[in-house]
Amino acid sequence: MPLQPSRTVAELRELQELTGDENGAQRVAWTDTWARAREWLRGKLDGVAVEEEIDEAGNQWFTLGGASERALLLGGHIDSVPNGGWLDGALNVVAAVEVLRRIAADREPAFTVRLVNWADEEGARFGRSLFGSSAAAGSMADQDELRQLTDRDGVALPDALGAHGVDLDRALEARRQLETAAAYLELHIEQGPVLESMGLPLGAVLGTFGVERHRITWRGQAAHAGSTPMDRRRDALAGAAKLALEIRKIAADTGDGAVCTSGGVVCKPGIVTSVVETAEQLLDQRHLNPRKLAAMLEEARHVADRFAGEEQIEVSWERIWSIEPILFDATLVDLCDEAINEIAGTSHRLPSGPLHDAAEVSRAGVPTVMMFVQSLRGLSHTKLEDTKEEHLELSVRGLDRLASKTLDWLGTKLA
Ligand SMILES: [Zn+2]
Repeated sequence: MPLQPSRTVAELRELQELTGDENGAQRVAWTDTWARAREWLRGKLDGVAVEEEIDEAGNQWFTLGGASERALLLGGHIDSVPNGGWLDGALNVVAAVEVLRRIAADREPAFTVRLVNWADEEGARFGRSLFGSSAAAGSMADQDELRQLTDRDGVALPDALGAHGVDLDRALEARRQLETAAAYLELHIEQGPVLESMGLPLGAVLGTFGVERHRITWRGQAAHAGSTPMDRRRDALAGAAKLALEIRKIAADTGDGAVCTSGGVVCKPGIVTSVVETAEQLLDQRHLNPRKLAAMLEEARHVADRFAGEEQIEVSWERIWSIEPILFDATLVDLCDEAINEIAGTSHRLPSGPLHDAAEVSRAGVPTVMMFVQSLRGLSHTKLEDTKEEHLELSVRGLDRLASKTLDWLGTKLA
C-alpha cells in the first residue's frame, strides 16, 4: 500500500471533530475524551497486523513484528491541553499510523516497528508534563510528590490514573518498553515562528533546550502609599520589575536562541494603598548549551543581588524545576536533514524550545531525533494552532522517508 499523506490530514480532522469543540481540542489526559481518542486510534489500526498493549504508565503501544525484536519507535501524544490545537501531539501519532500501514504492507521489516502514544505529555490536569515517557525512560523520580497532586476539582492524581487502569506505584515498570528500542523518531509541529519566517516547511531538530525554573522572592516593607516618601520605600516590586526587564538583555547577550521569561509576579499585600512587601516572581530560562544556560542563571542571580541592594530589599531564590539540554543523536539528525532535503528541497537545523517526550527517550540512551513542520504564526496550545495542509502532507512523507533511512541505518549498525 503506498503512503497516503492526505489520509493523515483527513484523519486529523476526524479526530478533531470527535474530541474537540468550538474552543479547540479537549483531549486532556485521564479524561473520558482522551480515552475516546485512544479508542479511535485503535480503530485506525484495525486491519493492520499490529499488537496493542497498554503499559504500566498508561502508554499505548502498537507493535508490528519484524525479523529482529530490536525496534524502531515512532512516538507522539494524543492528549492535548484544554482548548488546545488539532495538531500538537496528534500529528505525530496519526502520521505514524500512516507510516505503519505502509511498512506493514511491504515485506516483513528487518526490525520491529512500534507506535507509542505517550500518556499525559501535556500535564494539563495535574501540572506534571511527560508522565508516560518519563516513566518509560526511568527518570520519573517524583512519585511521592505525584501522590499529593490534585486537579482543580480536588481529584487526586492516583485516583484519576486508577480510573484508567494505571497504578502510580507500578508506573516505572514501563521501563521494560525501552529495552528493545533501537531508535526513536518524533514528528511535531514547531510551535514557534522560525520555519515560517524562513519559508521552509520542515526542519531537523538538534535537541531540546535545557530549562532552569526558579521562584524568586523579593522582601521589602509594606508602608502606606500616602505617607511614605519615595526615598524611604523598600518596594519589593521594584526588584522584580528591574529583573523582568534585565533578563531581556541577558538573553540577547547570550544569543544562540537564548530565552528568558518572567511568567508571573504575585504581590502582597497587593492593595492599591500599600507599597509592596513581598513579590514572588517566576523565572524560566532556556538554552541548548549547558554552559550558557548556567551562565544565564548566574548572571540573573548577580543582577538580582545588585537590584536588591539598590532597592534596600532582600532577595532569595528557590529552584522549582530544571532539566539539562538534551542533544539528539548526531547520525539521526543527519538522516533527518537528508530526508527533508529529498522531500522538500531545503532543510534547516534548529533547537526545540518546548520539551517533548523525545527528550525523555533520548536521555534514556535511545538514539533519537525529531522533525519539525512549520506552524502558522508560531501559534500552539490554542484553537488557532494550524499548519498548511500541503506542509502536513510533506511532513508525513518526511517522517516516512526518515523511518526508511533509519531502518537502513539500523541494518548496517546492528548487523
Ligand atoms: Zn506536543
